[in-house]
Amino acid sequence: LSTTEQLQSFGERHVTKGIGRITAGVMKKAEGSYVEYLDGKRMLDFTCGIGVTNLGHCHPKVSKAAAEQCMQLVHGQCSISFHEPYLRLIEKLLPIMPHPSLDSFFFWNSGSEAVEAALKMAWATTGRQNVICMQGGYHGRTFGAMAVTRSKTGYSEGFHPLMPGVFTTPYPFWHQLGLPPSTPTQTLTQLALNQLSLLLQQQTSPSDTAAIIIEPVLGEGGYVPAPKEFLLGLREVCDEHGILLIVDEVQSGFGRTGGWWAIEGSEMRPDILVMAKGLANGFPLSGVVSRKEVTDKLRPGSMGGTYAGNAVSCAAACAVIDAMEEEKVLENVKERSKHLLTSLHALQSDPVLAPYILDVRGRGLMVAVEFNSPAAGGWDPVYQNQNQNGESTLVAKKCIEKGMLLLTTSVYEVVRFIPALNVGQGEMERGVGVFEESLREVVG
Ligand code: PMP
Repeated sequence: LSTTEQLQSFGERHVTKGIGRITAGVMKKAEGSYVEYLDGKRMLDFTCGIGVTNLGHCHPKVSKAAAEQCMQLVHGQCSISFHEPYLRLIEKLLPIMPHPSLDSFFFWNSGSEAVEAALKMAWATTGRQNVICMQGGYHGRTFGAMAVTRSKTGYSEGFHPLMPGVFTTPYPFWHQLGLPPSTPTQTLTQLALNQLSLLLQQQTSPSDTAAIIIEPVLGEGGYVPAPKEFLLGLREVCDEHGILLIVDEVQSGFGRTGGWWAIEGSEMRPDILVMAKGLANGFPLSGVVSRKEVTDKLRPGSMGGTYAGNAVSCAAACAVIDAMEEEKVLENVKERSKHLLTSLHALQSDPVLAPYILDVRGRGLMVAVEFNSPAAGGWDPVYQNQNQNGESTLVAKKCIEKGMLLLTTSVYEVVRFIPALNVGQGEMERGVGVFEESLREVVG
């Protein structure tokens, strides 16, 4: 097996069809904002491996820390003993937590596993069985995480019956409330909180409800930031009824939205926060943090996993936090985000493109463009579902043809921009340029 063609057909023969791929070819190496394929093709990466390589691919400080850890201790199993990188990571995470009450940690490999652990923790510590999740929310592919996922039926199709005891409430997203994009956030917040209140009166009594789980920015559901008032409203409901609030920052966390956490600035206190993706810049690592008073209720031995909190991944995560601080990455996010949003809003006012762009939204470098169904001639209360020939798919495909990796998201016609958080100005200009060119070709 040496040529791309040979490897490609080998992969198609021996890798399950259950995994979809947006590009053909075989990735060989990557550096910063670029990935290189075996045939020499170089792509500008505006996907970051779905929001993971926040410091760019193979960041030298992260790779060095991991390589050094590989020579010291690779597998310090968490149920056998503490290991040093695990504890050093907690030491570094404590000062950047969005609330000082979050002081008791444990680590896993993937976002889904951390969500599973958060759910188990909610059941075990409240003694209640039900969970409320958000319409459009995504939390992973394992059994519990899949059961609280509401972004696309594609994730659960064929896998029913799902875990019982899960109830769904709308996100304060205009699509879900049948309202136009111009609806004031106050109205969306009020309507969504009213629906939650009804849910607690009509479907799952508060005394049966262990937790509410929410992404502060809907990720796979369309890149929609929740208004601060909605997050505070959820906190109030949870406080009133003794329900735990689980905040899933797997995609929105670790600098993605311009602060360490998307909930920063909302003054909302989560009971449990889930993190993964950017945490170790590509090494498998996820974490759950709560207050000691909650985690102390867990039975010893009720949590754990063979590879959970791997030493190399923890060492990489320590280097990520150091590099984020030393290289002032959060400042770069704010700068590049301004540029990205301004450029996309300019496209929204372009006389040719305007009819095709319904919405530009997002925070930091978690930004989306939603396309309009031109036939509808404006906002259409009937969902504009994403399909194989929809604008989002066509634009993303064009971008790939032109050398930029770009992903779609949600059941709507949405493309998402998730570049590295240290993306340079030139790379951002190039990315926006490729997007504009692709869009013009698709609509032209
Ligand atoms: N939660 C959110 C918000 C996510 O975006 C994802 C992954 N896209 C997950 C959980 C699941 O993470 P993983 O794929 O690492 O299991």
